[in-house]
Amino acid sequence: MRIAVFPGSFDPITKGHESIVRRSLSLFDEIIIGIGYNNNKHYFFSQDRREHFINKTFHGEPKIKVMRYSGLTVDFCKQVGAGFILRGLRTSADFEFERAIAQMNRSMNHEVETVFIVSDPALSHVSSTIVRDILLYQGDVSAFVPDSIKI
Ligand code: ADP
Repeated sequence: MRIAVFPGSFDPITKGHESIVRRSLSLFDEIIIGIGYNNNKHYFFSQDRREHFINKTFHGEPKIKVMRYSGLTVDFCKQVGAGFILRGLRTSADFEFERAIAQMNRSMNHEVETVFIVSDPALSHVSSTIVRDILLYQGDVSAFVPDSIKI
């Protein structure tokens, strides 16, 4: 079984995240969307709402599971038997950041490979941070979040 973990905050899930997961479906037997919990981070949406949005987005897709975790992503991978970490790349800044994390993760666990999918150019400007900013001022985010989600 080729199992991948797609880790992130998903605060909230965007069309960018959705696209990365859908494009990766043919690569893996199972994709576990791991909602990471970091004690030092302040979230806009509760874990329940973030999980609910993800479940709605991928409702009826048998290869996708949604789980929460805290602690190191490589430990979570071990726990669920995943050999791959899936990440998306939008910009060269993403690349530099992701490269360091992937190399650190590999030095902690050689059995887990990070796989990068380059963003669809139409979605490379989409980020959870910008969606949160728009929501703060009661703007319309429907163009940036999955179609099945109403925020
Ligand atoms: P984190 O809190 O770990 O940054 P995010 O929820 O922001 O988690 O993102 C999870 C993953 O999704 C990251 O690999 C990020 O690069 C990727 N991602 C986010 N937005 C997009 C997008 N618009 N296109 C492609 N990948 C994206």
